[in-house]
Amino acid sequence: MFDKILIANRGEIACRIIHTARRMGVSTVAVYSEADASARHVALADEAVLLGPASAAESYLRVDRLVDAARRTGAQAIHPGYGFLSENAEFARACKDAGLVFIGPPVSAIQAMGSKSEAKRIMEAAGVPLVPGYHGEDQDAGLLAQQADAIGYPVLIKASAGGGGKGMRVVNSAGEFATGLAAAKREAMASFADDRVLIEKYLLQPRHIEIQVFADGQGNCVHLFERDCSLQRRHQKVVEEAPGPGMEPARREQMGKAAVAAAQAIGYTGAGTVEFIVSADDEFYFMEMNTRLQVEHPVTECITGQDLVQWQLQVASGELLPLAQDALGINGHSIEVRIYAEDPERDFLPATGALKHLRFPRESKHVRVDSGVREGDVISVHYDPMIAKLIVWDHDRDAAIRRMLQALSETEIVGVTTNVDFLFSVIAHPGFRKGKVDTGFIDRHRSELTTSLNTDPDRGLGLASLFLLVQRKRLTTSQAMASEDPWSPWQRGDGWRMNDDSYTVLEFEIGGERVAVKAHYRGEHYLLDLPGGSVRGEARLNRDGMLVASLDGLRVRARVVQHDKELVVLLDGERQALLMHDPLEAGLEDEAGPGSLRSPMPGKVLDVLVSEGDKVQRGTPMIILEAMKMEHTIVAPADGTVTRINYAAGDLIDEGVDLVEFEAD
Ligand code: ADP
Repeated sequence: MFDKILIANRGEIACRIIHTARRMGVSTVAVYSEADASARHVALADEAVLLGPASAAESYLRVDRLVDAARRTGAQAIHPGYGFLSENAEFARACKDAGLVFIGPPVSAIQAMGSKSEAKRIMEAAGVPLVPGYHGEDQDAGLLAQQADAIGYPVLIKASAGGGGKGMRVVNSAGEFATGLAAAKREAMASFADDRVLIEKYLLQPRHIEIQVFADGQGNCVHLFERDCSLQRRHQKVVEEAPGPGMEPARREQMGKAAVAAAQAIGYTGAGTVEFIVSADDEFYFMEMNTRLQVEHPVTECITGQDLVQWQLQVASGELLPLAQDALGINGHSIEVRIYAEDPERDFLPATGALKHLRFPRESKHVRVDSGVREGDVISVHYDPMIAKLIVWDHDRDAAIRRMLQALSETEIVGVTTNVDFLFSVIAHPGFRKGKVDTGFIDRHRSELTTSLNTDPDRGLGLASLFLLVQRKRLTTSQAMASEDPWSPWQRGDGWRMNDDSYTVLEFEIGGERVAVKAHYRGEHYLLDLPGGSVRGEARLNRDGMLVASLDGLRVRARVVQHDKELVVLLDGERQALLMHDPLEAGLEDEAGPGSLRSPMPGKVLDVLVSEGDKVQRGTPMIILEAMKMEHTIVAPADGTVTRINYAAGDLIDEGVDLVEFEAD
């Protein structure tokens, strides 16, 4: 076994690898960018080496600096994690040339699977079933269009070098093909510096089922069963589970064998994943092989009781696979959700910001939290916007679902927009509970999943009011104790006034609307005049800072997080955000002008599709932006006229700038 390894990654996966290495007595070296100097993975590792500036291209993607960092620190092996250089054959080769062990498959296997087209040719030869499509070398646009016609619409254009859903476009008819091809090629070029594409039949309502494989250097290869990763948005996974709902043992064996055959066809070693797409009529086809540890590997660990990072270190240091196929079994059910900084209501656009408040559920044999961030950290545009993975395990799927709902309701994140509420709605959805999953699930149920759960709005308002009243009381009590006359009626925090009903008025803004709550003091409790009627309320803050409150006799424990004027009430997995309204500041707020269209995040203008004076219809694409290597289209919010365009193609823009001015009819 190695004495010391370097982890060429950041975030949760770097932390997760350090965790296992430490347990095995292997020292760890972290690497970091200037933006990550105080990141969790740096703090956890035994040593850490600065790579360069924040941008990944100048830090986590610098092969030379990574190899040099390993040399300087005496690390014998490099674990690439996932993303970044994990599937980069040049990096694997550079490690080898420097006498370092690359914890992953041989260079040749990475190369073979690095191009989706090349991978398909190899799998075709090995007799693994493929989705009907074109994966040839000839990239002539006319030929590609012809191939698409022959396959029959809808088709999916994919970047050969692709990953992360980038450079992928669904085309529904021959008329849309040229635009789809151009967009896929642009995105592929920006992300992979390679604009070659392949075309596949676009399957309707398929499932994404993948098989975890593992091979050692002595020719042994096993599979560790399947993961169902059908729940996706933008063709990217957000919920994964193992075993797959409804998976028959015979089918599992068949797919497991196909995956092992795929791995053996390329002389694989280490951890790999063979991804299949399963059609609505239950045929399975090879999609691609990922030659690394997957984000969702924890669900496999939970049902098999194995530590896949430990297996990776063992195999990479020359040991045999720890277990043979017949020693592996499935125990219970595991589900993972990926908590992202993103806005489900704006087409899952990545979000950025500081994690002002961050609490995860307590870890146990049922709950695991893999995260690389801490309270106060910033989710920036430089890296993946994943905040954490929440993983649960229980004896069966139903119990695991209940665990997940509970874990999500105990997850408190304030400061950035996240998909936590959305994930809660997905897991609670009757279709998901029945195991009726396919890759179109989220799109089909989008409106049910993104509208906030129908909570009583008065409840959030009541809790926010009680929170402020409790705080106010604490403050006046401490001020009174510090004053010369602590028992004077003027020091009382209960709104006491001579000859008057003692009350105070709290003003809020909820979704742009002003709401006033009159709180009458009644000795030990309050009477709150809420929009829906008066409610008796009582509250205190417990030692964890939770608001223990009772509203008309219903007792709850809520978290209320205050940041400047913003209050967020978190209760049972739901959140309500309110602004405290300060009458003195009213009218000074910087509202977006009517009809102005702001950039949702920092990025670059790729294309401006309209001109000043153009009359457009609602939904007309106006500007194409690139942010985080993905394209985003800004569309007309209504029928109207473009009055001004503030940026041109190629311009770099900040978040929140007015891109276009627009007058609705
Ligand atoms: P990437 O490597 O960019 O993540 P994949 O090839 O793994 O791309 O595909 C991502 C997702 O896109 C799949 O999980 C699946 O949901 C969807 N997908 C891929 N190929 C097809 C297809 N031929 N028909 C329907 N959906 C597909």
